[in-house]
Amino acid sequence: MSTIRLYVTEPLHEGAMVTLPAQQAHYLGAVMRRGVGDGVRLFNGRDGEWQATIAALGKGRATLAVGARTRAQAPSPDLWLLAPVLKRETLEWTVEKATELGVSRIQPVTSERSAVHRTNVPRLAAIAAEAAEQCRRLDVPEIGEPVALRTLLASWEAARLLLLADESGASPPIPTVLADAPRGPWAVLVGPEGGFSPAELDAFGKLAFCRPASLGPRILRAETAALSTLAVLQALAGDWRNPHFV
Ligand code: SAH
Repeated sequence: MSTIRLYVTEPLHEGAMVTLPAQQAHYLGAVMRRGVGDGVRLFNGRDGEWQATIAALGKGRATLAVGARTRAQAPSPDLWLLAPVLKRETLEWTVEKATELGVSRIQPVTSERSAVHRTNVPRLAAIAAEAAEQCRRLDVPEIGEPVALRTLLASWEAARLLLLADESGASPPIPTVLADAPRGPWAVLVGPEGGFSPAELDAFGKLAFCRPASLGPRILRAETAALSTLAVLQALAGDWRNPHFV
């Protein structure tokens, strides 16, 4: 049987008793057909990963007894994704992939050409938690409420560099951008399906922390641009360089 990993919010320590919400209890019992005495791994983003045993399992509730810690809490890369508010299933896919790629925060943003302005943040957070369980993360990325990009950048913390995916062909490739920039931390910004307006691109160009980069000669969909930029950053400057597998 594969080991089930569950993200919980309760504190984790030896001897703790953790009560699972109905949805997770249903998943354990009805979906994964686990029973009393079966093992589960728990993590909460703060205390590392712990072995736990199902102590009670009933309709819509489960209690787990926490045993030994299996992995110490390790910091995730401090890497943000400023994601355009795309149509529902595309943004959900992007949240899942960005979580697998190790982002610490996903901030939905709207801009002049955004076709969609609202999204279901609790649902995105649930998708991020499920992806974190699957990919063996020890934490779950924060998901922000959608915000207008201009508003976000007006109060931007300048120590965080902003890698702007620029499809015009006028910007250098990512390795060159990284070589010419301080170490980071970084945020990745990708435009909506309609791209950024000339006025937006002009305003971005004036921001000291903004680093435009080209992702090659083809016009990528926003979700492809987000995914590939994160992968390149992790490979060149992130935790793909010195993987820490326990
Ligand atoms: N302006 C595009 C549409 C935007 S593509 C068009 O002409 O059809 C969506 C977003 O993906 C862009 O705003 C940009 O941030 C990113 N993107 C797509 N292809 C890219 C490339 N080759 N290099 C850098 N960014 C790219």
